[in-house]
Amino acid sequence: MQIDVRLLDHTTDPVRSLYIAYRTAYSALRPQTIYDRIDAEKITRAQMLDFVEKRLETGHASPLEQVWFEFAIAGVSRAFSHQFVRHHIGISFEQQSQRYVAFKKGEFPYTVPETVRRLGFAPKMEVAFDRLGDLYQEMIDAGVPAEDARFLIPNAANTNFKVVVNFLELLHICDLRLCTRAQWEFRQVASQMRAEIHKRFPELAKYIQPKCGDKRWGYCDESIDDWQACPIGKKRPHKKLLFELFDAHRRGELAPLAEGDFEVIEQVGSSVATARSAKDGVGAPPVIAPNGDHPAEGTPPSVRDEG
Ligand SMILES: Cc1cc2nc3c(=O)[nH]c(=O)nc-3n(C[C@H](O)[C@H](O)[C@H](O)COP(=O)(O)OP(=O)(O)OC[C@H]3O[C@@H](n4cnc5c(N)ncnc54)[C@H](O)[C@@H]3O)c2cc1C
Repeated sequence: MQIDVRLLDHTTDPVRSLYIAYRTAYSALRPQTIYDRIDAEKITRAQMLDFVEKRLETGHASPLEQVWFEFAIAGVSRAFSHQFVRHHIGISFEQQSQRYVAFKKGEFPYTVPETVRRLGFAPKMEVAFDRLGDLYQEMIDAGVPAEDARFLIPNAANTNFKVVVNFLELLHICDLRLCTRAQWEFRQVASQMRAEIHKRFPELAKYIQPKCGDKRWGYCDESIDDWQACPIGKKRPHKKLLFELFDAHRRGELAPLAEGDFEVIEQVGSSVATARSAKDGVGAPPVIAPNGDHPAEGTPPSVRDEG
């Protein structure tokens, strides 16, 4: 069966949602005021995007939790679904039940992997599953409940999902599951999720990459052998190469921290970023003018309060 992924719904305007969340963190303005200013078109879409993209370059990820996407996913195998539901933070699943849905006439849709087909095992698989289907139906007819008859159903059997996932978790899932090390079926689902988001929000879809991508970690952390075998491995560096660079640095030029450094750390006062930005206006989060405008040159830095 064909895998079919469709984006059913989403945060009304993810870019606006991200903008308001980030602005709220860095501004004296109330989120209501920020919203009204967007509504009155005092803040343009280009300004919102520019601001959001700069924040996305940092580790400030919590606003991504406030953007959600709702997907319908059909025609996937139970082999896939076992892996899918291992992701449990920032995602909510509803999956077709094998207790409440009994297969009619013992016929269950299933997936035949390409390797099985290519090596000529598909007909044998079909014969085996027909036999299982017959026994399943025999059990149901004899009064065995579907929840027990399903013990016959193989990993290949298809299932359907409706899921809601926030953007932070979607990026994480795709970090892992767009990696060529992930199972082919999961890679196809993740690719289709990415394609669906790309249709409506290409500016956000570009962040949906495998973990080695230029917009994610930027390097591969799999084994060297797997990196060498990866068809896109040569495009992205392996972390071992980064460490080799670091080691070379360490061999001569990189001095170890001394006790005195810890005294500096303890006593330095304002954080380096804050102090530096107070001096020359760089390093700290952008400043919000009292009227909510984008930072004007020379305005003093705002202080980010995590609390
Ligand atoms: C290539 C590949 C092979 C795999 N092989 C196996 C296997 O052989 N056997 C197997 O059992 N599993 C396997 N897994 C599944 C894997 O171990 C994870 O369970 C799965 O990828 C879910 O990811 P996650 O833990 O990041 O969960 P998510 O729910 O996606 O978590 C998101 C993030 O939240 C944080 N988080 C999640 N749970 C906790 C927690 N309890 N405490 C604190 N922080 C948390 C972590 O930072 C995590 O990255 C494999 C996964 C991949 C990608």
